Amino acid sequence: MLKAVALSALLFSPVLLAKTPGELAQSAAEYAVQTYEQAMIDSLASLVRHNTVAVEGIPSPDNPVHRAFKQDLIGQAAALGLDYQDYGYVVVIGLGQGPEKIGLITHGDVQPVNPDKWAKSPFELDMTSEPGKLLGRGTEDDKGPISTALFAMKAIKDKQISLRKRIELYVYMAEESDWGPLQEFIKTHTLPELNITIDTQYPVVTAEKGFGILSMTFPNRALNTTQPYIKHFEGGFFASQIPEDAKAVIANASKALLEGIKQKTAAQQGMQYDYDWRDNNLIVTALGKSAHSSKPENGVNAIAHLADALSSQHWPSNAAGSLVNFINDQLGTGLYGQQFGSIAYADDFMGPMTVSPTVLKQVDKGIQLSINIRRPKGKSAQQLEQEIDSALDSWQKRSAVRLEGRHYRIDDPFVLTDAPHVEKLLGVFSHYSGIEDAQPVSIGGASNSRLFPNAVGFGPAMPGKEYTGHSEHEFITREQFVLNLRMYTAALVELAN
Ligand SMILES: [Zn+2]
Repeated sequence: MLKAVALSALLFSPVLLAKTPGELAQSAAEYAVQTYEQAMIDSLASLVRHNTVAVEGIPSPDNPVHRAFKQDLIGQAAALGLDYQDYGYVVVIGLGQGPEKIGLITHGDVQPVNPDKWAKSPFELDMTSEPGKLLGRGTEDDKGPISTALFAMKAIKDKQISLRKRIELYVYMAEESDWGPLQEFIKTHTLPELNITIDTQYPVVTAEKGFGILSMTFPNRALNTTQPYIKHFEGGFFASQIPEDAKAVIANASKALLEGIKQKTAAQQGMQYDYDWRDNNLIVTALGKSAHSSKPENGVNAIAHLADALSSQHWPSNAAGSLVNFINDQLGTGLYGQQFGSIAYADDFMGPMTVSPTVLKQVDKGIQLSINIRRPKGKSAQQLEQEIDSALDSWQKRSAVRLEGRHYRIDDPFVLTDAPHVEKLLGVFSHYSGIEDAQPVSIGGASNSRLFPNAVGFGPAMPGKEYTGHSEHEFITREQFVLNLRMYTAALVELAN
């Protein structure tokens, strides 16, 4: 996939020349890692301690955990001799004078976490369970990059490098839940003309897919039958995580039915199943692998695979049965919506739209399914909406099920064509990673880049390596953390000096 993307970039866009970082940038980067490797790890350990997940009904500026996080952050900035300002939802940490500025865009909030799935607390930086890895919620997304930025700025300050541009680090506190307060902040604040979002991946991200959620409810229906039927189906955790847990309860089940399920699961990869009997109810528990839903190929979707395990028949259509039928008819275990009417499409540079069932919610009327889509350019939201509608209409007819509460949110993709700092960033990346011919890429995730002028993504994840943000196994390797410090320091010197 990544190779295909890089190749298409070479074939269809002008090849950009990487500019090797200068002497000053290289010596500052070296100084930063020689001097601040341990301090940067200590900084992250401190930031990880605050569970900065969004709490419904409590705005971030009023949330005591978020406030404690910001106090910690501001304390660290002050100790490093950087200036700072707390605007409520946004903390800005600065170095140097304006009026010209360069911005680093990050966020201090995190996604929910299931502590049972971690070797140690996800809010303690775990450096021992897996040697070489720093495990914890936010290590990759996005507290690690905040700590890196702080010490890149500190190194530049220590070396008294003269700055043509003031450096500003933006830490937004609701990136994972609500972009509204950031949009409000931007209306009254003069933003840097040039920005780098350190919440994505390398080499340089110039396009991001559009986020979307399709939700619908499979209605309750009482069944009075001695035939097998699916009594209950649950799974998923939050909308932007590929689910690793799912569970089904099948009433009036038989040994033969269980054998059929086992045959199906034998053909699957990366799944584990447990079976349990309660009278004639068969309980099937499925374990896949969580991942960021913008990279579904990094995970194994437990909801889709459990439905597939039950795909040997069409089930009586109560809520759980029609849900399983729907997943098998329209989604399957594929990642790109190819069974879903005509919605599937791809862009040469941005890749295919991904379509992932992520969360099931038991509601009064039945079971609500949320499908997370990530879409490239090439189709209007309106066209896509019509295609989804027509696929759902035709499924309803065929299955004699009327879906309730159909609701779609379909955001636009983001594409930046000529950011002036791309060549310097590519140069820094190539120099320090040893990866030659690095070219801009497109990603599935949606960052705050699109809200800032001339914002491109630059790390923290390496291309081709698994991205662990939003997963239940989030980490950054010590090696990558240090490499990021080298690269961010060099990049800031190249762009601000
Ligand atoms: Zn993030």
